[in-house]
Amino acid sequence: MDNRELWELLGMDLEKHDEFLAPIPALATELFFNRPNRPAAMSYFDMVLADVHGIRVKELYEKKQKGAKIFASFCVYVPEEIIVATGSVNIGLCAGAQFPISTGERVLPRNLCPLIKSTMGFKLDRICPYFQVADWVIGETTCDGKKKAWEVLNQYIPTYVLELPHKKEARDYRLWEEVVLEFADFVEKETGVEITEENLQKSIEVINNKRKALKRLADLRKNKPSPIHGLDVLLINQLAFFDDPERFTGQVNQLCDELDERVNKKIGVAPADAPRILLTGTPQPLPAWKIHALIEKAGAVVVGEETCTGERYFRNLTEPAENKEDMLKNIAKRPLQINCACFTPNSGRIEDIVKMTENLQADAVIETNLQFCNPYAIESFSVSKEMEKREIPYLRLETDFSDEDQGQLLTRVEALLEIIRS
Ligand code: SF4
Ligand code: SF4
Repeated sequence: MDNRELWELLGMDLEKHDEFLAPIPALATELFFNRPNRPAAMSYFDMVLADVHGIRVKELYEKKQKGAKIFASFCVYVPEEIIVATGSVNIGLCAGAQFPISTGERVLPRNLCPLIKSTMGFKLDRICPYFQVADWVIGETTCDGKKKAWEVLNQYIPTYVLELPHKKEARDYRLWEEVVLEFADFVEKETGVEITEENLQKSIEVINNKRKALKRLADLRKNKPSPIHGLDVLLINQLAFFDDPERFTGQVNQLCDELDERVNKKIGVAPADAPRILLTGTPQPLPAWKIHALIEKAGAVVVGEETCTGERYFRNLTEPAENKEDMLKNIAKRPLQINCACFTPNSGRIEDIVKMTENLQADAVIETNLQFCNPYAIESFSVSKEMEKREIPYLRLETDFSDEDQGQLLTRVEALLEIIRS
């Protein structure tokens, strides 16, 4: 079956899909494929990107034919180990494109975070084969926008909502554990597969290995000069939500082996004195490459991301346990170590930013927040104060997924780099 036949089978709007995909090859060529001095092992990720709506969608479709279910999620709090244990698939969907936003605005307010409008638009426009192949969306009560948007999305695709607490007291841990246990029951019922000690142990190992590989990659960026472009790492972090976890882990480790050699030989992607930037803020879901591309175009290197398409996704592992009950408890415990601005207080995030700045030898912090994201916009007050106190150069950018503000953003990034270089 070729891609078009498959897309048709999935009920996609082929004309609109063509329109959406048309600019992607040229953009990917400019930002990735034609960029000089990239590690050879990037070729796997380039291949996945070049056929992003092809091979993997086919794999998912074939899995479905054999009885697996596809669960689509939009947040790093969703406990993917539980889904993977049943032989089914969790995919973190794209929500980083401008194209479907006007459609999302037909059912959602205009002054809402673009990530949520993009998500909704992808489903309504029927241009995302992952959305079309999915059986369920797994939402969460993180910010108000997402929480209420799930009610609308549920009218187009079955949507299960995890009740995420907004504090980290003992009672919140208890509530979240209960939510995770209920979710495990739901997944068992939906997939018809019992979660056992064996399959859960295996899925914890598989997902932990994926996180370890991503952490290994992140740690290699501590080196001066950095052996890899930030934009390449962002692409890998984005693909981590789509690809088969075991194959993906193997490929990331292969890349890391090559980067080890680069580090030994002091081969970098930019001169050792190029400004090093830590990025913090809201996530950059596929294909939101704008900020990384601008920073690196201006001559700096992004050396880390304190975001959900970065460190927050992979830093913490699920502790192994002897029995199923404890494994599920540990699965619940892990995500509550993530410091998202939807929590209050969230001082752990500021500590993370400071620690990452030191560990990665970053020269400055750029906070990039999506328009209308209140939790991160408000929290940026505390982030900027801490940066000022520690005399860490800091810049806050507010943006969306359009290209319209590129010139203005680049000017501001260049001004920051001037300060660092002076
Ligand atoms: S920023 Fe918060 S709500 Fe958004 S994906 Fe990350 S953890 Fe989830
Ligand atoms: S970026 Fe902010 S507003 Fe948008 S979905 Fe995430 S937490 Fe909600």
